[in-house]
Amino acid sequence: MTHESATPPGATVSQVSESQLLRAFLPVATTHGPHVLTGPGDDCAVVATPGGRVVVTTDTLTAGQDFLAVWPSGDRTTGWDLGRKCAAQNLADVAAMGATPTAVVVSLTLPGDTPVQWVTDFADGLSRAFEELGATECALVGGDLGRGRELSVTATVLGRCELAPVLRGGAGGGGTLVHTGVLGHAAAGLDALLTPVPGRWDEVPGELRRTLSAAQLRPRPPVGSGVELARAGATAMLDVSDGLLRDARRIAEASGVHIDLDPTALEAALAQLEPAAWVVGTDPWQWLLTGGEDHGLLAVLPVDSPLPPEVRAIGSCAPAAPARARSGSSAPAGCDARGQHREGPAVTIAGQSPRQWFGFDVVEGWDHFEQ
Ligand SMILES: [Mg+2]
Repeated sequence: MTHESATPPGATVSQVSESQLLRAFLPVATTHGPHVLTGPGDDCAVVATPGGRVVVTTDTLTAGQDFLAVWPSGDRTTGWDLGRKCAAQNLADVAAMGATPTAVVVSLTLPGDTPVQWVTDFADGLSRAFEELGATECALVGGDLGRGRELSVTATVLGRCELAPVLRGGAGGGGTLVHTGVLGHAAAGLDALLTPVPGRWDEVPGELRRTLSAAQLRPRPPVGSGVELARAGATAMLDVSDGLLRDARRIAEASGVHIDLDPTALEAALAQLEPAAWVVGTDPWQWLLTGGEDHGLLAVLPVDSPLPPEVRAIGSCAPAAPARARSGSSAPAGCDARGQHREGPAVTIAGQSPRQWFGFDVVEGWDHFEQ
């Protein structure tokens, strides 16, 4: 057995062995959980599959593309932040299926000058997210550590289903559109982080600026609400990762329904953004309706379902008319509250198209390949 010295303080990943790096990572991570049969250390982990169905999702965050190590505002993305964000995004996807996260594997690609402490902080941020976001059955069961030019992290999360998984396309019967979580905070926070100091964010109260920046750096999706919404009878669900308008459209198109957002039901959420929006000269509705990365849950419930705690009704969902043969139009059809079929956009705001409502052509939300 070879003896390896302790990692010197301030060491970078190029100055330590793989086993030293693992010792900086694994003891900090939550590696035990009710579904872990064999944890890290073997060629594969072994995870129990209660209920016989596993949901699985993966997501990558790359420096320079998905986050900046140092933002124009001077804020930094710490290892802790990135562990937290990486967990949050993936846990929200599992929650959006009405499932409970059980196990995570993580692959880290690290430039040689990354401090070993960064890796320890990442493991801590990831594990604290399990605990604080309501994924208490979840554990880190394995992964990979490697060198590369760009810092990049990929997490894959498994989840168990108590009920049938809630897909995007099940809302064909219509119902109430509901949401839980925040809206537009991460987009406002991104604007704050991308604005150099001094700049137009200087006059925003410091506490509000920190809250919004934190929503971008360390989102807090309501992971536990996924199962609650499934139990309440959700017929379609997703997490709002690319903006409310764009993600509502995904449900509308997958389910063949028309969704109408009720702006009066969104006014409380709007009020959280207004003090910053007016100061920096942005329409707060644009953050709220088109901002991504908040990872709240958007679902359709039967109209008579009681709403779980923290869940708000924000619109209605009506069955679409059968597609007309050779109509020459790709616009989905819908029907109004009286059951009258009508043509129109898949998602409206108080009955108007987003373009009519805003008064200009609005970009509906984030697309990874359009930017
Ligand atoms: Mg998602």
